[in-house]
Amino acid sequence: PLFTSDDVRTMVKDYGVKFVRLQFTDIFGVLKNVSITVEQLEKALNNELMFDGSSIEGFVRIEESDMYLYPDPSTFVVFPWKPRDGAVARLICDIYNTDGTPFIGDPRYVLRRAIAEAAEMGYTMNVGPEAEFFLFHVDEAGRPTTITHDRAGYFDMTPVDLGENARRDMVLNLSQMGFEIEASHHEVAPAQHEIDFKYSDALDIADKVVTFKFVVRTIAQRHGLAATFMPKPVFGIAGSGMHLNQSLMKNGTNAFYDPGTPNKLSQDCLYYIGGIMKHIPAITAITNPTVNSYKRLVSGYEAPVYVAWSYRNRSPLIRVPAKRGQSTRIELRSPDPSCNPYLALAVCLKAGLDGIKNKIEPPAPCDRNIYELTPEERAELGIAILPESLNDATYQLSIDPVITDALGQHVMQRFMEAKRIEWDNYRQHVHPWELEQYLSKF
Ligand code: GLN
Ligand code: MG
Ligand code: MG
Ligand code: MG
Repeated sequence: PLFTSDDVRTMVKDYGVKFVRLQFTDIFGVLKNVSITVEQLEKALNNELMFDGSSIEGFVRIEESDMYLYPDPSTFVVFPWKPRDGAVARLICDIYNTDGTPFIGDPRYVLRRAIAEAAEMGYTMNVGPEAEFFLFHVDEAGRPTTITHDRAGYFDMTPVDLGENARRDMVLNLSQMGFEIEASHHEVAPAQHEIDFKYSDALDIADKVVTFKFVVRTIAQRHGLAATFMPKPVFGIAGSGMHLNQSLMKNGTNAFYDPGTPNKLSQDCLYYIGGIMKHIPAITAITNPTVNSYKRLVSGYEAPVYVAWSYRNRSPLIRVPAKRGQSTRIELRSPDPSCNPYLALAVCLKAGLDGIKNKIEPPAPCDRNIYELTPEERAELGIAILPESLNDATYQLSIDPVITDALGQHVMQRFMEAKRIEWDNYRQHVHPWELEQYLSKF
C-alpha cells in the first residue's frame, strides 16, 4: 500500500498509536530505532527530526554528526503483537544531511541510486527473497544456544514442535503487516525454516527483508526460542541462504521473457546473467559479508561453490526456474541472510545493468552436476570458484570499479575498514578446531 503523510495521520488516530519507531539501517544492515511519542509525529512527518549520526556504525565522523530522518510514509505499519491499547507503529526513514541533500552513506540511498539508474534505462527491478533461518533453544539465562529438540527435515510436518508453532505465529503476524506469504516450510536441517513472501520492487523488498528478520526474531522470542540468520551456525548440516529471485520489468512487462527464443529467455536476461557472473567475486563481499558466510559456501549442502548457471540444477550459482511469462526470473543462490539487503540488491542490479549496457554474454549454461566435475573438466568449461573467505571477497570488491561505484566511496571505505578489522580479529584467534588438530600432535 502506498500511504501518504495524511494517510499516516489518519491511521495513527484510527489505531490509537501512542509510539512510533523511526527505523533505518547502518551499513551492515543492522536495524536502528528512534522511538518517538505520537506528539512528535508531526515534526517527524515534516522531516524535522534530527539524530546524532556519529553513534551509528559506518555513518559519519563526530564533527559532522547531525543528520535528519525523512520518514517514508509508504512504510507505515502497526506492530500486530503489541497491545491494541497504546499501539506501536513504525516508519522506515531516509537519512538526509543538514543541508537537505541525501546522505551518501545511507544504504537505502545506495539502493535508490541503482534503482534510478535502472529507471533511466527503462527498467524496474523485481525481487523475491527466500530467507532461511534457525530456531534454537535459549539457555537458563535466556541466551541463544545451538540446541534443538527438533528432528524434522525438508517439508516435514511435526505439529508438536515448538518451532512449527512459532513459525505459524510469524506467518500470521507478517500477514497482518501486509506481507503476502507464498510459502512457509521446514528446511533440510533440524530447526531450520524458510518463509517466502511475494516478490515486489527492490526498495520494497529490501525494507521487507529488514522488517522480516526483526519480526521473526521478535516472535521467536515470544515463543521462548531464539531465531538466527547466521549463515552457518552448525558444522556438518545445511547453512541458511537467502536466494534472490530477480527480474527486470520494461514497459509494464517482464523484460526477461521472450517467447521467440528456444529457452524463452530474452537477450536482456542473458546479459543480466552475464553481468552478475562477471561481477560475482565482488558482489560476494556484499551478499556474504561475514567470516561465517564462507563456511556455508561449501559443497554438499545445496549452497553454491562454482560460478555457473543452469536451467535445472541446484548446484550452480544461478538457476533459471522453469516458470516463464510474467514469472520469468533468475535465482541467485549465493546470498545469505547476514547481508544488508539494500546493498545486496544495489550491487546485483548494478551488475545486471552493466551486463546489459556492455552486452556481456554469459558462458553456456551447465546442466551437469558441477560438484561431480573434475578440476580439469571445470577448467575446460571455464567454471570459476566463488571467493573462499571474507578476505578473498573483500579483495575482489576492492578491484571491481563497477561494484565499488554502486556502493559509493563513503560506504565502500567504511565497509572495507570494518571488514578488515573483522577478518584480522578472526585470523588472530585460536579456534577449537586448531586445538583439536594440533594441541597433542605437536
Ligand atoms: N540451505 C541451502 C543454502 O544454503 C538452500 C536449500 C534450498 O533452499 N534448496 O542455500
Ligand atoms: Mg525456497
Ligand atoms: Mg530453501
Ligand atoms: Mg530457492
